Amino acid sequence: MRPFAYASPRTADEIIALLTPGSAGADGASRPLAGGTDLLTLMKADVATPSRLVDIKRAGLPKGIEETPPGLVVGGLTTLAQIETHPAVRARYPALAEATAVAATAQLRNVATVAGNLLQRPRCWYFRNPRIACWLKGGDHCPARDGENQLHAILGGGPCHAVHPSDVAPALVALDADARLRGPGGERTVPVEGLFAAPEGGRRRETLVGSDELLLALRLPPADGSRSTYLKSMDRKVWAFALAGVAARLRLDGRRVAEARIVLGGVAPVPWRAHEAERALEGAEAGPAAWDRAANAALTGAAPLRHNAYKLPLARALVRRALESLAT
Ligand SMILES: Cc1cc2nc3c(=O)[nH]c(=O)nc-3n(C[C@H](O)[C@H](O)[C@H](O)COP(=O)(O)OP(=O)(O)OC[C@H]3O[C@@H](n4cnc5c(N)ncnc54)[C@H](O)[C@@H]3O)c2cc1C
Ligand code: SF4
Repeated sequence: MRPFAYASPRTADEIIALLTPGSAGADGASRPLAGGTDLLTLMKADVATPSRLVDIKRAGLPKGIEETPPGLVVGGLTTLAQIETHPAVRARYPALAEATAVAATAQLRNVATVAGNLLQRPRCWYFRNPRIACWLKGGDHCPARDGENQLHAILGGGPCHAVHPSDVAPALVALDADARLRGPGGERTVPVEGLFAAPEGGRRRETLVGSDELLLALRLPPADGSRSTYLKSMDRKVWAFALAGVAARLRLDGRRVAEARIVLGGVAPVPWRAHEAERALEGAEAGPAAWDRAANAALTGAAPLRHNAYKLPLARALVRRALESLAT
């Protein structure tokens, strides 16, 4: 690991000043440090090389879960373990409880924060190899495109074909959560879906969160009679990233689907909102015919690479199973 400086500010303003290029004390290459489970791994592998870590855990930033009836606010520093076990999350937002419970391992979930989970970098094996200057790291091509791409994107890929690794992000998108951010210009609130964009052109990152912004908190709107779930397929039972995942939310009016959200994980560079599947569901009568239509529509536009076509039937099956479970 390369040498780096360390700061532990006591206020959000001090953190932001250290992250903002050109402000007093800033060096332009500082990164916020939360649980460190992703950032420190990348630094040990010499893939991330910040000159300073700005520890954000002692500045009084939102941490923990606050019930603000009828919704819920989850601080950015809340650990995945706190979310997974919280009674209100389990009762009203099961997709979020289930997604956190299947992420990583129990030990990691005790330190991994929800903000860090959303902002973790891709798990692409070329990206994580310090000897490979792939496109996302500033190189001129993506070796995964014609190389080993078993775990890569089947939707929305190119120029980078890595998948977004978070289980939690699809759940938050399906629950219509908002994110509160703070940067040098003040605070802004955006839908969680708006935190992500496939890397392109000069933006070789998967997030639209500025490098001088802090993700303060997430706000979940009222569940409003919705049911939700998160299903994940892995190549072993625990401690694996999603080969495919689906967060589904349905609000039924009698036997009719009044509202639907289908968000896929592990198949695209961002949590993938399956708009065609949602359209196929809304207004439809709940039942196997609607679930089949939605499962097929969810993969509209899929373009598998040489080694990952298996993700198509996998993702379809997860969508079907998730919908069945919500309507019974
Ligand atoms: C072995 C292993 C298995 C894993 N398996 C899974 C899995 O199955 N599913 C899954 O979803 N995840 C998985 N993960 C990822 C894990 O959940 C993340 O590493 C963790 O949530 C990151 O949180 P952290 O607090 O440790 O973030 P850090 O490592 O501290 O930070 C991660 C990134 O977010 C930035 N950051 C952190 N907090 C903020 C903030 N508040 N505002 C702005 N920027 C911030 C940091 O600067 C850094 O760029 C796994 C990780 C490991 C190591
Ligand atoms: S998929 Fe993305 S991260 Fe992986 S090698 Fe290609 S450009 Fe790099």
